[in-house]
Amino acid sequence: MADRPSRAGRRWPRLLGLLLAVAAAAVAGAVVLRFAVDDALGAGPSGDRLDRIGRSPHVRGGRFVNTLPTVSDGSSIGTFWDFLQGGSPWRRPRRPVPVVARTAADFAEPADLRVTWLGHSTLLIEVDGSRVLVDPVWGERAAPAAVFGVERFYPPPLALSGLPPLDAVVISHDHYDHLDMPTVEALADRVPRWVVPLGVGAHLEAWGVDPSRITELDWWEEAEVGGVRLVSTPARHFSGRGLGDRNATLWSGWAVVGPEHRVFYSGDTALMPEFAEVGERLGPFDMTLIEAGAYDAAWADVHLGPEQAVAVHRMVRGELMVPVHWGLFDLALHGWTEPAERVLSAAGRAEVDVAFPRPGESVTPDAVPTEPWWPEVPWQTAIETPAVSTGLPDSVRALVP
Ligand SMILES: [Zn+2]
Repeated sequence: MADRPSRAGRRWPRLLGLLLAVAAAAVAGAVVLRFAVDDALGAGPSGDRLDRIGRSPHVRGGRFVNTLPTVSDGSSIGTFWDFLQGGSPWRRPRRPVPVVARTAADFAEPADLRVTWLGHSTLLIEVDGSRVLVDPVWGERAAPAAVFGVERFYPPPLALSGLPPLDAVVISHDHYDHLDMPTVEALADRVPRWVVPLGVGAHLEAWGVDPSRITELDWWEEAEVGGVRLVSTPARHFSGRGLGDRNATLWSGWAVVGPEHRVFYSGDTALMPEFAEVGERLGPFDMTLIEAGAYDAAWADVHLGPEQAVAVHRMVRGELMVPVHWGLFDLALHGWTEPAERVLSAAGRAEVDVAFPRPGESVTPDAVPTEPWWPEVPWQTAIETPAVSTGLPDSVRALVP
């Protein structure tokens, strides 16, 4: 069998193939890093924008700071290892999520008060005939590139092309699950006004939004758009999309204040006393949209968790609470349904009214979805895995059910 190659002779082409595959992967990776990731990182503030940031009362040494110290922010190596290894076996749904598919026809007429939850923190807020789109994420992944990072559990309930005419897009901060480059690029020419926290405009400009359409606000500053006031409110969080840009741009919540109706969106935040001031100055709110997912004891100074979300609802003087920032991306160690289960339980203790829209579903004063729609899977209670922000006065702690 002279033509049959020896074992060693067959191993060489295989090894060569493997080496070529590794080299090709490395080149592809480098190309992705160079182009896709580079762009998605956005741009840092410079020039006049940087000067203005320097004058903000919330900046120390060129970086934005919270009003309370950040002790638990999840940045330890141990926490990262836990995130990769551990957590609930129910972090992702095992069956399709019951999404309510929407079309442009559903939004043909503007509403006096309607909030449509498009998953995670993407919300279409309609107040007194004006339309504001919050933290729009239509991308496949909350990550710097389309090929890695956390993948969404279900496709967007409404196509980008199905969005009604918008008065503004509002952004809470520059994290990937709130500020999505492909979505910004797709909307750049369609949206007349972009209202964002200080510094975030640099990213928008890098992705094609005309500077004349961008309004950047510090906490408590406001813009009037489409007959409503959009007020930036304090939050306790952080920002950054890559290495070295941590807290270079601001994070905030938003109040949408119309002549007849008011809606509050928390953005990403931990608990802080300033929410009472939000309630005094801008409340009461017909609806509050408050982040209730992606929490952990290890990062309780940057995210609320379900029980503290209910406390924020009370502090800002909310009537109906809609928990958001859950059920789309696997960003924490808890089960995917746990935020909703724990909000339900905490709201019961506090006698707070809560709406649980399915992804894509709208909430109006006449249609308040309250029935649990998610599957019954194991979850941990507030006593088993508490998430409590540090540095709070007793008066604020007392509001956590
Ligand atoms: Zn965030």
